[in-house]
Amino acid sequence: MQLLSDRILNMATSATLAMAAKARELRGEGKDIIGLSLGEPDFNTPDFIKEAAIQAINENYNSYTPVDGYVELKQAIITKFKRDNNLTYTLPQIVVSTGAKQCLANVAAVMLNAGDEVILPCPYWVSYADIVKLNDGVPVEVKTSIKTDFKMTADQLEAAITPKTKMLWFSSPCNPSGSVYSKEELRALVNVLVKHPNIYVVSDEIYEHINYVGGHASIAEFSEMYDRTITVNGVSKAFAMTGWRIGYIGAPEKIARACNKMQGQITSGANCIAQRAVITALNESPTRVQYMIDEFKVRRDLILSLLSDIEGFNTNTPEGAFYVFPNISYFYGKTLRGRTINNASDFSMYLLEEALVATVDGESFGNPDCIRISYAASQEQIIEAIKRIKEAVS
Ligand code: PMP
Ligand code: GLU
Repeated sequence: MQLLSDRILNMATSATLAMAAKARELRGEGKDIIGLSLGEPDFNTPDFIKEAAIQAINENYNSYTPVDGYVELKQAIITKFKRDNNLTYTLPQIVVSTGAKQCLANVAAVMLNAGDEVILPCPYWVSYADIVKLNDGVPVEVKTSIKTDFKMTADQLEAAITPKTKMLWFSSPCNPSGSVYSKEELRALVNVLVKHPNIYVVSDEIYEHINYVGGHASIAEFSEMYDRTITVNGVSKAFAMTGWRIGYIGAPEKIARACNKMQGQITSGANCIAQRAVITALNESPTRVQYMIDEFKVRRDLILSLLSDIEGFNTNTPEGAFYVFPNISYFYGKTLRGRTINNASDFSMYLLEEALVATVDGESFGNPDCIRISYAASQEQIIEAIKRIKEAVS
């Protein structure tokens, strides 16, 4: 009998984590790799949050928490949703999980049956397609390009809908394109969705605060969508807390209860100390972390200006998150230092081995002609990385 299940054998390895592991391995061999592959803020978690965690340890928060999170945390999440997104949720509509990743995995597990289709505007975050497939769902990719700032239009959404469409999943600000849907753009999508009342939406807003245009819009704000939107958020990005592993959803009560039941059998409640710290993080004004956003914006402008100087890097202007997602198909068929580039994977590998810069190829984000470069790195590292890339491709 086969040792491992078809489920795991058919699953792709997370490309972001695989590239980060490869970069780590090469560093271990003494190579001076600049890691621009992982989407992870390079800041420390702010002191006021760390202090709350230390206090929680000293106050002996060491027991299992309620499966769906401490009530005080759920209350802080309700306050945050109201304050930042004008969304009104009640306690049974909130579930705290081990990162936004678990939120997404829960939602897929409790909502998808075999053959249900999930529309994924491309590029999408790397794990969406595999989480959907793991739960027997069928990802339906909607291709976009730089021409529409990598955003799905209403016509494209309409064309992708079939009788089997169960959900639409998207992130705004988008990982990996940095695109931000304006309220008007969301309105256009909502106008299509109102004609299809059985379709649910997962709105992944984890980059909400890392936004350079100001004004984040949540699709659940549209009254027509509130009852069929799962708003996913977390603290990994805006609060530089990737390792603390706290994410949360605001959702219709039936779905939230199902997620609670699901994680009750799989993980139980999220880490108790991290939950206590996040109460403090969310009860504070987001202006406490504005210094990080300001610095990300400076880096975005820096990397765009450096890349504009290299022939063959065709990019949009990301309005949020901390990635650029250039189309590099210009290099296809070209031979660089004896190696022929046939696709973005070859190109990303070439950059790793010849420029010692780790990026991620766009294939696993659903746009195979692009690569993703994270600029959650110091300005010095960005300057050095792009200098090396420029030398490697010239
Ligand atoms: N959604 C998006 C768009 C992401 O980039 C990430 C990466 N961290 C996640 C969800 C998962 O975040 P978390 O660390 O909270 O699991
Ligand atoms: N979300 C981050 C990224 O896109 C972290 C890696 C991951 O969780 O896959 O790189």
